[in-house]
Amino acid sequence: MISVKNLRHVYRTANGERLALDGINLEIADGEFLAVIGTNGSGKSTLAKHFNALLKPTAGKVYVDGLDTAAEENLWRVREKVGMVFQNPDNEIVAAIVEDDVAFGPENLGIAPEEIRRRVDLALETVGMTGYRNFSPSKLSGGQKQRIAIAGAVAMRTKIIVFDEPTAMLDPQGRREVLATIKKLHAQGLTAVLITHFMEEAAAAERVAVMAAGKILKVGVPREIFSDVAGMKRLGLDVPAAAELAERLRRRGFKLPEGILTAKELAAILKGK
Ligand code: ADP
Ligand code: MG
Repeated sequence: MISVKNLRHVYRTANGERLALDGINLEIADGEFLAVIGTNGSGKSTLAKHFNALLKPTAGKVYVDGLDTAAEENLWRVREKVGMVFQNPDNEIVAAIVEDDVAFGPENLGIAPEEIRRRVDLALETVGMTGYRNFSPSKLSGGQKQRIAIAGAVAMRTKIIVFDEPTAMLDPQGRREVLATIKKLHAQGLTAVLITHFMEEAAAAERVAVMAAGKILKVGVPREIFSDVAGMKRLGLDVPAAAELAERLRRRGFKLPEGILTAKELAAILKGK
């Protein structure tokens, strides 16, 4: 669905040049749920912006469903395929009423009112916000606002949504709501790319890509990625709390299998001992 070949990105600013992506290769399959992790400044957001042609490669190629993002004539078709959800829902919500906000994107595409209503209904239902359709977004919690922003992307019917740290500003409850929403959309067939600092969220994805200094260091299933606790720490990254605890217990002589990711798994194994 997304194919990245030897992608380099250089930002040119008044202070000089900054190499933000340095030879990225990545394939994201149709319907996949991929998490992207990496410390601040490792290039995650820059990569995300290439997925919907907000940025163009300095060198290399990005193809979205076969479309070269560097070709001007593909710009709108690429954006029809890839939606984006960012960190701060306050910056994304444009209307004073929830349902108007969700309708905003489709309205700008000139879609018929009947069809817009259908899309808004379905999008609000998908994110579990139907009961709030006539609310003012300012009355909503962070998690609810972010789900409205996601509904806006869902109403655009894009095949792919890229979530750039959508839970960074939310409380634990809001984070759970948003992650559950992303999982649900993925189960319905959406291709989801989730950039996150929360390793429990990354562990919910099918694959995890680890970035550092503009490169992808490795891509693997969460069990594989998070079993290397020491390697992740060296990169300045955490692992899910259960993986960390399991590793500490191993160091104290407990014989535990590799690849423990959740508290549930760890508890079940310890109970069986
Ligand atoms: P991340 O999302 O992983 O924190 P970014 O993609 O935002 O990383 O940034 C990667 C690198 O590019 C950083 O060194 C950052 O300072 C730099 N950078 C990001 N945006 C710009 C910009 N608009 N102009 C210049 N440098 C930028
Ligand atoms: Mg970022």
